[in-house]
Amino acid sequence: MKHQRSTAQWREMDAAHHLHPFTDTASLNEQGVRMITHADGIYLWDSEGNKILDGMAGLWCVNIGYGRKDLPEVAKRQMEELAYYNTFFKTSHPAVVELSHLLAEVAPKGFDHVFYTNSGSESVDTMIRMVRRYWDVKGKPEKKTLIGRWNGYHGSTIGGASLGGMSYMHEQGDLPIPGIVHVQQPWHYKYGKGMSADEFGKLAASWVEDKILEVGADKVAAFVGEPIQGAGGVIIPPATYWPEVERICRKYDILLVADEVICGFGRTGHWFGHQQFGFTPDIFTTAKGLSSGYMPIGAVFVNNEVAATLAAGGDFNHGFTYSGHPVAAAVAHANVKALRDEGIVAAVHEDTGPYMQKRWREAFSRFEHVDDVRGVGLIQAFTLVKDKASQTLFDNWGEIGLMCRDIFFKHGLIMRACGDHIVSAPPLIISKDQIDELIATAVKCMEIFEQQLK
Ligand code: PLP
Repeated sequence: MKHQRSTAQWREMDAAHHLHPFTDTASLNEQGVRMITHADGIYLWDSEGNKILDGMAGLWCVNIGYGRKDLPEVAKRQMEELAYYNTFFKTSHPAVVELSHLLAEVAPKGFDHVFYTNSGSESVDTMIRMVRRYWDVKGKPEKKTLIGRWNGYHGSTIGGASLGGMSYMHEQGDLPIPGIVHVQQPWHYKYGKGMSADEFGKLAASWVEDKILEVGADKVAAFVGEPIQGAGGVIIPPATYWPEVERICRKYDILLVADEVICGFGRTGHWFGHQQFGFTPDIFTTAKGLSSGYMPIGAVFVNNEVAATLAAGGDFNHGFTYSGHPVAAAVAHANVKALRDEGIVAAVHEDTGPYMQKRWREAFSRFEHVDDVRGVGLIQAFTLVKDKASQTLFDNWGEIGLMCRDIFFKHGLIMRACGDHIVSAPPLIISKDQIDELIATAVKCMEIFEQQLK
């Protein structure tokens, strides 16, 4: 596409009018914004003509890759036929019905119902209202408290930001709101020194039980966690963690919620992250990979018991103008169908995922300042450390991570620094050759990074 303006003009206009999310405006405007103009497969191009390998699938969302020709066609057709109608007041439309049917097919058995939102944050806030409503209907209105985790990320709305455990978010706007408490994250490297993974997984799960007992089981509505903490830096819990958390939730009659906004739709090589870890939540929240970012849409999956309870309660007074938006639903349907029918999720499980994990560990374990090299499917990370032998992290958490991330950017590779965790989650359509390319560039960057540290 030919553009009318130069990069300099865009930068000026952006600085003049656009407030960016999670951004220090002064520093952005000093540096000048990077303009991304088009994309194809796993690559982006900026307005200066630079080709960039997107090792983050946008914000962990473009599972199907950029530049699909079928999805815009579906959107166009749907817009022409029925651009908008709502799903309030006993109405529906074919696009949302077809999507719901397909989602029940790809979801684990027993999850036959979904509620639509426009984003991950809205899915999380919807879930918060749902679990509280669930206990009201069950005749236990005092069960209101939700337990989240420190360093968890559940979005930017007031509910999502409260449930998340990012202290830099809580600091702005008096969060968390009442009725939300947190337990420590299951980060073995930091909190389980000297313990086996299995022991630490059980210990971290016991923190959930401690919190339940502290609050009082009769007051706790739900425990909520990402199967893998994504924005927190790809914190992968030991295998013993989730089954033990599930056992504890069942013991105290507490709903178990998986936030699958990142893990859902194939990221781990399973359709949903909880399948990777062998537990069954009562509710799971999704967005991102549901449409691979081609349209804004999210969905909250509830098991049949939760669905029946909510239905027994009569009106659930919650919903969005765009819940089940026809164009978003049609595009999500085409996306999920392609993820399934083109074998994209299966390939992550059987082929590209294992290949990435092998190459990732081989490539980065040898670096002096890299430790805890980890990943599953196509979500992976390592941690930058001051001293590997004593497992000592750098002072000023996050500073060195940003320095490293900027080297990747300079070399045409997008990876993310979550503190000093360096993270990658490319589109799920990445080929083995492209995995080699991603890793070769990243290795070159890490060599430069370690030189700069000397
Ligand atoms: N939950 C998780 C696990 C996420 O990773 C995110 C976003 O990264 C969200 C919720 C919020 O999603 P959104 O940015 O679409 O509101």
